[in-house]
Parts: sequence; C-alpha cells; structure tokens
Amino acid sequence: MLWLALNCGSSSVKFAVVDATDGARRLAGVQEIPAGEAQAALDAVVAELANNPDLVGELAGIGHRVVHGGERFSESIRIDAEVLAGIEGVSPMAPLHNPLNLMGIQTLQRAFPALPQVAVFDTAFHQSLPPRAYLYAVPHSLYTEHGVRRYGFHGTSHRSVAHQAADRFGLGGKSARIVSAHLGNGCSTAAVLGGRCVETSMGFSPLEGLVMGTRSGDVDPGLHAFLGQRLGLDLAGVTRLLNRESGLLGLSGVSGDMRELEAAEARGDVQAALALEIFCYRLAKNIASQVVPLGGLDALLFTGGIGENSARVRAQVLEWLAPLGFEIDAGANARHGEGTDGRISVLGPPLAAVVATDEELLIAEETARVLGD
Ligand code: ADP
Repeated sequence: MLWLALNCGSSSVKFAVVDATDGARRLAGVQEIPAGEAQAALDAVVAELANNPDLVGELAGIGHRVVHGGERFSESIRIDAEVLAGIEGVSPMAPLHNPLNLMGIQTLQRAFPALPQVAVFDTAFHQSLPPRAYLYAVPHSLYTEHGVRRYGFHGTSHRSVAHQAADRFGLGGKSARIVSAHLGNGCSTAAVLGGRCVETSMGFSPLEGLVMGTRSGDVDPGLHAFLGQRLGLDLAGVTRLLNRESGLLGLSGVSGDMRELEAAEARGDVQAALALEIFCYRLAKNIASQVVPLGGLDALLFTGGIGENSARVRAQVLEWLAPLGFEIDAGANARHGEGTDGRISVLGPPLAAVVATDEELLIAEETARVLGD
C-alpha cells in the first residue's frame, strides 16, 4: 500500500509517495515557497500528483507533518473536524507554522476527499518529558491557565534517527541512552531514554536553546526590556531581531547558511570563524548537559543539513566532548560516516554517528499505523 507524506515548512513543501513496508519512494519532490505563496506551492504538489494517476489510485492515505500539537495531541491522529479545530486552537503558539499545515491539510482534503488523512505532530515525541523538564520557573498559573511550558520541536526528525540508531547499533533496549542533534536552519537536541524523549533543547517556541541560522537560542530574558528601550523596539520587534537577525547570521554578519560560513572561514573571515566556534561550543555544552536526564550516554547522533554534511562542525563538537569519552575517527568523519554504519568515533561507548533523518518515511509509517494497516 502507498502513503503520501506531506511536510509543509515555512520555506518549502516536501512530499513523498512511500511504500511504508520497505520505505521505497515511488515519487518525491520539493516545491519552494516564494514569499507568501504557500497555496501556489501546494497546488503545484497536487498538480504533480494528478500527473501520476496510477500512483494516486494506489494511495491508501495521506500523512501531514504538523508543527504544534500543544498538550492535546501526544500521538499521531486521524484528522476530522474536531482535530482540525484542535490544530487551529494551538495556532497562536505556532503562528508561522500551524496555519500553513492547516492549509496543506485542507488543500489535500479538497483534492482527494475520499482519502483518510493523519496528522503527525512535531511536538508529540516530546510529550513524554517529565514536569521537571517541561515547566519553566514562572508562576504555575501561567502553565495551567495559558499553556506556558516547554513543548519541543523537530520531534519527527529526532524520532526518525533514534529509531534508526536503535536498529543499527543495537540500542533498542529500555536503558539505551541517546542524544540526537538535529542541525538544520533550526537546531535542537533531544535526549532519548529507551526510545522515549526525556529532554530537549527547544521550549515554548523554536527560539530556545542552541545557536541557529538566524535565531539566537538562549539569551538573558532581561535583554528584551533593555533592547526595547535602547533600540526603540516593541516586543514584536525584539522577537523579530532574535528570530531573524541573530544566530550565525547576526554573529558573523556574513550569512546564516553553514556552507557560506565555512567558505568565509576558509577565506580567513574572523567573524565567521567566531560564529562557528560559538555554534559548536553551545551545542557541545547542551549535549553534555543531557547526561543529567539520561544518567550517561551511549550514542550521539548528528542529523539535518549541517549534522549530516558538516565534518567541521562535528569535529569541533566532539573535541569539546572529549571529557565524555568521545574520540573522533577523522577519516570516517570526513566521509560523513558513509561506507560504514555511520559511525565517526573510535572506541567508546559513547559512539558518535551520522544518521540521515527521514521525516517523510516516519510520517508514512505513522499514517499506516494510525489507519490500522
Ligand atoms: P531545514 O532546517 O530548512 O530543513 P536543512 O536541514 O536542509 O534545513 O539544513 C540547512 C543547513 O544545512 C544550512 O545551514 C546549510 O548550509 C547546511 N548544509 C547543507 N549542506 C552542507 C554542507 N555540505 N556543508 C555544510 N553545511 C551544509
């Protein structure tokens, strides 16, 4: 049976027609979203599918990545009117993402009204965090009355690589201790104990935690008032500065794109080199801190565009993490773990490995599971 997985992000719509039994792709593509033109990108996906009537005829269901499920959705779920209203209900907490995800669902419902659809939430994998990990030290009524807590994101990706590593490295047991580092334009870590997520670096919004392409990650919350006053910005302006003008872009003044930064560093750009060093240092510190919730560490997994492709970032992170027992295999790291099982460290445990994320496969598998195939 075939399943359509739709991954509608803020800059692109990825889609794949997947045979969930063996992960084979029968069709896959990406539509870039030009500013504000998400509907056009979705229509283009529908048109591409319509050009393949044989494949569409074999589809058994459609799975959608949905960024925010709040506390209401701790599992993937079949979409009906009530679920749609629930996704809309948490939209104020993910104003850039959930409306796009809703647009994707509604577009495909119109195009394929007979096919059942499933929502796979990015926050769901983190719903197993204990209260000590998800509560902020603010008045408790902010949690009970307004949902102020840490939700975590990138759950679909963290879950995909943790599952792959469980098979690949024999880490499927109840006590297996894995840290997954998803490093793309957004970056986050997840601490996974026996297959369940127990800690993550992102919080209420995808701004918390690591240094990212254009996002600051953690800063002193006291900055908001100071910057507001100094720069004459309202809170929305400060939030925009921290989301869009900070991170690698803000530090380097060159770019928020890792490839461009590495090229600038190679040309001798001192600010680019400093931005890279801070990115790696903050990431290494965060990974080390995950030893507390996990009680130790068996494997560190690198994934996402940077995690899978930047030997430079992985090397510096593992250097900082030498006190935890990591010793890099420089040759394997330079090959991005290709040709073996992805391992880029020697000795250990802990081991370090590159594991390519496969969100579309996970969405297809979840869709098949929810629809009872
Ligand atoms: P998104 O989070 O939007 O899905 P990706 O996972 O594709 O993004 O990650 C994008 C990041 O990966 C960019 O910073 C890009 O420069 C970086 N990247 C992609 N390929 C390489 C490479 N060969 N070397 C270093 N960085 C890379």
